[in-house]
Amino acid sequence: MWGGAGAAVRMSTLLAPTLREVPAEAETESHRLMLRAGLMRRLAAGIYSHLPLGQRAIAKVEAIVRQEMDRQGAQEVRLPLVQPEELWVESGRSAKYGEELWRLKDRHGRPFVLAPTHEEVVTDLARREISSWRQLPLILYHVSNKYRDEPRPRAGVMRAREFVMKDAYSLDRDRDGLLAAYARMRAAYARVFTRCGLDWRVVEADPGTIGGGDTLEFVALADVGEAEIVWCEACGYAANVERAEGARPAEVEAAEGADGGAAGPVRIHTPGVRTIEDLVAFAGIPASATSKILFLWAEYAPDGRRELVAALVRGDRQLNEIKLANALGAVRLGMADRADVLAQTGAPVGSAGPVGLRGARLLTDLEVACGGAFAIGANQEDWHLFWAKAGRDFDPGQVADLRLVGAGDPCPRCGDALRGANGVEVGHMFALGAVYSQAMGALYRDDQGRSHPIEMGCYGIGITRTLAAVIERHHDRDGIVWPFAVAPYHVAVVPVAAGEDGTREAGERLYAELRGAGVETVLDDRDLRPGAKFKDADLFGWPLRVTVGRTLRDGAVELRQRRGGLTERIQLGGAAAAIRARVAAGLGETEPPPGHGSQAPDAPGW
Ligand code: ATP
Ligand code: MG
Repeated sequence: MWGGAGAAVRMSTLLAPTLREVPAEAETESHRLMLRAGLMRRLAAGIYSHLPLGQRAIAKVEAIVRQEMDRQGAQEVRLPLVQPEELWVESGRSAKYGEELWRLKDRHGRPFVLAPTHEEVVTDLARREISSWRQLPLILYHVSNKYRDEPRPRAGVMRAREFVMKDAYSLDRDRDGLLAAYARMRAAYARVFTRCGLDWRVVEADPGTIGGGDTLEFVALADVGEAEIVWCEACGYAANVERAEGARPAEVEAAEGADGGAAGPVRIHTPGVRTIEDLVAFAGIPASATSKILFLWAEYAPDGRRELVAALVRGDRQLNEIKLANALGAVRLGMADRADVLAQTGAPVGSAGPVGLRGARLLTDLEVACGGAFAIGANQEDWHLFWAKAGRDFDPGQVADLRLVGAGDPCPRCGDALRGANGVEVGHMFALGAVYSQAMGALYRDDQGRSHPIEMGCYGIGITRTLAAVIERHHDRDGIVWPFAVAPYHVAVVPVAAGEDGTREAGERLYAELRGAGVETVLDDRDLRPGAKFKDADLFGWPLRVTVGRTLRDGAVELRQRRGGLTERIQLGGAAAAIRARVAAGLGETEPPPGHGSQAPDAPGW
């Protein structure tokens, strides 16, 4: 908790270059503030130098993460950031990661990658070092830079190309062991994000390129966050919209039954009708009584084979491309252009439909497949079919849950209306099972001498992204409002001369006392006007500011809390002890209550 005598600094010597102007490159408040308060500087797109204050805040988050990992019995290791690409070929992820994987060659032309994560390295370590059931279970963790050549780096360290991540890996004999480790990590994450002062939710997520089974994301609520989540207040279901399941059609009462009483689809001339809005206006029916077909190219690993895919969803729905990719087993999807669609299928895009569709693989969303009859393109310009039904009028092809679920939609578990919010994915955990150990041959022998693949889980926390999320949540117009737990320093001592004698000396003495007491303190010893010092103190966001000035003649200093602005006088004699007590109380503010996040069962072997 206490930084020791070394954890104090004079502003006159600190490299913390502030900016008055808001940097044009920054679109989010946390990004702007990290630049304005001199926490970091950009070197290249998505690549940053972290200056002393930024580095201290990062170290605070790392320390919290280490404490919580250690509390769960995880062991810290340091793993290579340069990894032979062949490991990634072996696991099958070299192709899946595509251009996000940063590739390089050594002087002999041998291919390597910069670590985006370490499942391969850990699985390789396990297959070499673990042979017996006696060596399991084990949780290893690791804090390091990670490298991902993101297509769109944004918001500073929120989505960077070089960033700090804590990654952990659990190795177990069986699924029960894995689930126990998973519960332990979940408890650790709950404590980490609460201690960092975040307002977070844990949601079901899509496994993405990592593969494997269950996965949870920890999302810090923030309007600027790229993650969209939905949750149900009634039953507790919560998911990233990438994953959120559509309610089963039996519970969806939208357009079912509205088949106009017809025995088959009716072909109707619809001149100029190209979009769902056109169709709704033309026919005077709700968008939920229409359906639309979207054409995409799907690409498959490992050979890069491509195929034209047609996805059919209700007209008022959006296609969830991740669900579509999962249903296909594709590694990548891209929108197909009109010319491709016309050439492959003979259908003009605005009038395409599933009846008589050729040249593309059809997938139909559950709602359309089971739901009823819909207005849909007739594969001919200016013509639509009304009341077309899957099964009766066309073969729906592969039926899957393909739609994007959003706030207001019914909960897939209980039918109540879902709520939605945006957030920043700060942590992610996966119950991988045996996908990596099987692909790479990481096996152990049980007490009977039989061989089994090691059951694995992996667990990531974006350290630098978490820091940005903290600032996104804790700031005001004037600057950062650090929670004590993450603040680079807790207290700023600000002597202001203002014609008073002895303020400088009194400031120096208080600084020395605080420093001696192990309080993380900055002394603003710069030759600046009081207003400029106060403005900076607000921008830097020190939780406590001690002004040594006018009140000195009464033997007092002024203590101001950054959060809320409460200001009080305290006597100079005993000030250090009083401030130290305030810091201790502040550090306790985000300390989780006993039992918080402790869903972890007491697994045997721990
Ligand atoms: P996203 O969906 O945001 O790209 P991801 O699912 O690719 O994230 P993981 O592979 O699960 O991320 O990585 C673990 C953690 O690392 C994430 O939860 C996030 O906090 C962090 N992280 C991932 N990519 C980045 C990035 N480009 N910049 C900063 N942090 C990142
Ligand atoms: Mg990613």
